[in-house]
Amino acid sequence: MIIFKRVADLQRYLTACRQAGKEIGFAPTMGALHKGHLALIKAANDQTQVSVASIFVNPTQFNDPSDLQKYPRTPESDIEQLTTADCDVLFMPNVEEIYPNGTTPSVTFQFAPLDTVLEGFFRPGHFEGMAQVVYRLLEIVQPHKLFMGQKDFQQWTIVNSMLSQTNSPIELVMMPTIREADGLAMSSRNVRLNPEFRALAPAIYESLQQCVQLTNTHTPEEVAKIGTDFLTQKGFKVEYFAVADARTLQPIRLFEDTDYAVALVAVWAGDIRLIDNIIVKQTQWLEDELEIE
Ligand code: AMP
Repeated sequence: MIIFKRVADLQRYLTACRQAGKEIGFAPTMGALHKGHLALIKAANDQTQVSVASIFVNPTQFNDPSDLQKYPRTPESDIEQLTTADCDVLFMPNVEEIYPNGTTPSVTFQFAPLDTVLEGFFRPGHFEGMAQVVYRLLEIVQPHKLFMGQKDFQQWTIVNSMLSQTNSPIELVMMPTIREADGLAMSSRNVRLNPEFRALAPAIYESLQQCVQLTNTHTPEEVAKIGTDFLTQKGFKVEYFAVADARTLQPIRLFEDTDYAVALVAVWAGDIRLIDNIIVKQTQWLEDELEIE
């Protein structure tokens, strides 16, 4: 694996790859890597000729400064895992390389109503910062394919919207959420859970799986209420538990009103915030159309 810290060096290398007719697959990350990230690299290796990972803890997407400060950083282990996963290129820039002219966004996008609900409501400015860094990283890497996880479903829909707003030729691939054996979605934040909440955490995925069972007998609002009550009883502070149209992320009145629905949850497990989601309704033709792996 080749490690680049500078934009110019990375671009020189990737230009040569492109000129040699190689397709580039890209997985942006904030490091503290786990098997969820490595699955993106594996997909990039399977589907393209050059796999590129980036590790950059983007300051502009943290609405809470202490969250940014406490974000886990494990560069040695990250490099080791990426090497084992046969990643071709790692880009590890500093803030000045990414934002040479300061952190004020140079391009703005119109994501409403995708960015005003759920994570966007509870983490104001988060998606603006996320879109800013993804836009900048794509400008630098210029991949053919971009691999992102379903774990951050709302993020995926916003990046998808950004690509269509910019008429980008980049193909966005959604990779399934990788979970621990007990169902907890892998996340860099899991290492910060205390043992009590780590033991309770599988209930989050359990609550989402229950949603799928309930779609035939309950309304979306009832399903969300059952999920909220279940997790509250377990000891989590539920920030939101929503059942939404998976394209618009707006609430749905009846499951019959859409062919693509998602349940999304954010909870506080003590002072650690965890998110997860599950597709609760999806017709077969849609799976083909959406290129879900
Ligand atoms: P992060 O480092 O948390 O910003 O995540 C970088 C990329 O990895 C994003 O596309 C995430 O959706 C994806 N990702 C994070 N956790 C998982 C997981 N458990 N399964 C699949 N993809 C994930």
